Amino acid sequence: MISYETNLVNLIAQFGGNDGKCRHYLECLKWPGGPVCPRCGKEGVKISQRESYDCTACHYQFTVTAGSIFHDSHLPLWKWFLATYMVVESKKGMSANQLKRTLEISYKTAWYLCHRIRKAMEEANPAKLSGTVEIDETYVGGKRRHVGRGSLEGKTMVLGAIERGGDVRLRVEGSKKASKGVLHKFVAETTDPKADRLMTDEAPGYLGIADEDTTHETVNQKAEEWVRGDVHTNGIEGVWSLFKRSIVGSYHQVSAKHLDAYLDEFEWRFNQRKNPYLFRDTIARLLNSPKMEFKELIEKGA
Ligand SMILES: [Zn+2]
Repeated sequence: MISYETNLVNLIAQFGGNDGKCRHYLECLKWPGGPVCPRCGKEGVKISQRESYDCTACHYQFTVTAGSIFHDSHLPLWKWFLATYMVVESKKGMSANQLKRTLEISYKTAWYLCHRIRKAMEEANPAKLSGTVEIDETYVGGKRRHVGRGSLEGKTMVLGAIERGGDVRLRVEGSKKASKGVLHKFVAETTDPKADRLMTDEAPGYLGIADEDTTHETVNQKAEEWVRGDVHTNGIEGVWSLFKRSIVGSYHQVSAKHLDAYLDEFEWRFNQRKNPYLFRDTIARLLNSPKMEFKELIEKGA
């Protein structure tokens, strides 16, 4: 029987250099009730000495990785497994260069793996935040010489909302101005209309986000009034500092083009922080996520 709780030592002991065992793991995830024909849904039987199965009804031959990202890749499955583990478990994010050194693979392959694994980490349909929700905006990126106070040149605005004790939602915003339209749209997209309390700073763009069943409370950060009773935005401030440290520590400079992917990875890892089956769930997503061509990624710009 397969153990779904993972650490690096038992991951290497289980899968290191052994693609047969990786394949078995994928089969257990994809077909808990035994192999199923992707064409007609009937049962498959293993073709001896091979990775393929033969459908008992339509005789279509298939493998567990057919149609998945694992299929076309020339990379051994066990290196995929290790890369996934490292990206998922790395609290501050994993760069393509670190992956390249650790797995002894080319930079191009490492870069591809990072993007694929991040893509698999995206939340398809995230639930809306409820209860008490803190909302804030921050700016990331830009060249060092522009870092002076007040200058937003080269920077990208990121909006964030966190449910106290729950999930975070982060969004790259094209506009540099935290206008009423931008902030209200973000609140509407990320929080339940029946959320109890919304907490923000006193930026005028937030005015009017309350309604009959949702209160809006603010803290005046300019007056250094950071906390008033339980009215504060410490949760989202903590997320910003974690996110900024992860950029400085691992990526140095995140290009605006790829900021979305980094945010998705960060958001997913943060929201899964109490999930002991993180590795398994990411592998399952990779197995089920559609293929993305290497060319397509390169065209987006490295
Ligand atoms: Zn069939």
